[in-house]
Amino acid sequence: MHVLVLGAGLSGVTTAWYLSQAGFRVSLVDRQAEAACETSFANGGQISISHPEPWANPSAPGLILRWLGRDEAPLKFRPSGDPAQWRWGARFLFECLPARARRNTAAIAALAVWSGMQLRALRTQLGLEYDQLERGILHLFHDRAEFARASARAEALRAFGIEARPCSRDQCLALEPALSPHAHRLAGGLFAPGDESGDARRFTRALATEVSRTGAALHWSKEVTALHANPDGSIGGVDVRDTAGRTARLEADAYVLCLGSYGPRLLAPLGLSLPIYPVKGYSVTIPIVKPEHAPKVSLTDESRRIVCSRLGQHLRVAGTAELNGFDTRIRPERVAPILAWASTHFPEALDLAGAESWAGLRPATPGNLPLIGRSARQKLWLNTGHGTLGWTLACGSAAALAQLMQGRVPPVAFPFLRTG
Ligand SMILES: Cc1cc2nc3c(=O)[nH]c(=O)nc-3n(C[C@H](O)[C@H](O)[C@H](O)COP(=O)(O)OP(=O)(O)OC[C@H]3O[C@@H](n4cnc5c(N)ncnc54)[C@H](O)[C@@H]3O)c2cc1C
Repeated sequence: MHVLVLGAGLSGVTTAWYLSQAGFRVSLVDRQAEAACETSFANGGQISISHPEPWANPSAPGLILRWLGRDEAPLKFRPSGDPAQWRWGARFLFECLPARARRNTAAIAALAVWSGMQLRALRTQLGLEYDQLERGILHLFHDRAEFARASARAEALRAFGIEARPCSRDQCLALEPALSPHAHRLAGGLFAPGDESGDARRFTRALATEVSRTGAALHWSKEVTALHANPDGSIGGVDVRDTAGRTARLEADAYVLCLGSYGPRLLAPLGLSLPIYPVKGYSVTIPIVKPEHAPKVSLTDESRRIVCSRLGQHLRVAGTAELNGFDTRIRPERVAPILAWASTHFPEALDLAGAESWAGLRPATPGNLPLIGRSARQKLWLNTGHGTLGWTLACGSAAALAQLMQGRVPPVAFPFLRTG
């Protein structure tokens, strides 16, 4: 069976790989000249199995209200006239209900644990190199009240099979000595030793090379302009246009949609509505000039919603979430708090003048649960909507989709799509 995967970010390339391993003949199409040019280009680098809680949780509405109108707010809603934005916002509020947040957290945790296993197996199988570090993630708390909840959080994570332990300030410093200039501001931490970090772009591109070695056809620089429906409603082909304006139709026995935030636009003409909206985030990648002062353990600042990962001779610092449509322009006032965070935490380590800023659009569902499985249209499958955790969940989601397409049931307690 021939499967055409639409999109070559983390989701699309991992999907192509696991499908090829499951015996499918695979093709891949993307509008960019190579893999991982959009949201998978410069994310926070974290394999954050220890962070299954979605943004949509009971405390979110209060925080968003508190941060309204503040340019440096970690979570920012810029209201527009776009009905899709308001629909998504209303669903987000629904997902903040305690029962929904508990259900979503459990599902994400199950998929994240399985995804971690798939990633480690893949790394062993292929020997991929992508500046990976298996040193865990240390969650930092600057607020005593937040740190006071760390024990309960560790217990909740353990119930999902995720190891995590609260750490005093001294224990945080023992784990990551580079934090010492900032230690007096820390209330404590929560350490998840099973987490990892690494460069998602390098990973995706290395895996795309492996996909091409399987004999898959990779169609670069081809924009998907429409999905063509057969008279019986099934998908019969994908219309593409290359950079010279030439058009063609690519046909396969099945199609998998992995187009990030742009998927809903292509499905709308078919009468399919996906609850995915772009949530913009920023990162800066800063050269390290004094390696002994730069962290090796990946960090999550829980109070500021900022993450950082060591990627070889660079530090990647990422954060902020903004509901602002498809605008990927870099706003200096949104980058400034991320740079300030880096310079106050690691004042000696970094060449801030050499920092490169980037913005990307997380393809987010309101509850942060990706859409994985059969769509309502025959021959069309989905593996998309991974929001804040697309790197963490990539291998597990793709492996699960390959099993679903083989007619198998993945061994993960996750609400895979079964419609159609
Ligand atoms: C600031 C920031 C920090 C993050 N940090 C982390 C982190 O630390 N850990 C984590 O797990 N996740 C993180 N994420 C989330 C993660 O990066 C995303 O969930 C993931 O990259 C999404 O991958 P994707 O393949 O779905 O989308 P994309 O990477 O955007 O891939 C979609 C692909 O589809 C292609 N495409 C789109 N439209 C068309 C079209 N019409 N025709 C042809 N091709 C098309 C694009 O070119 C692109 O290659 C972060 C995200 C951001 C923005």
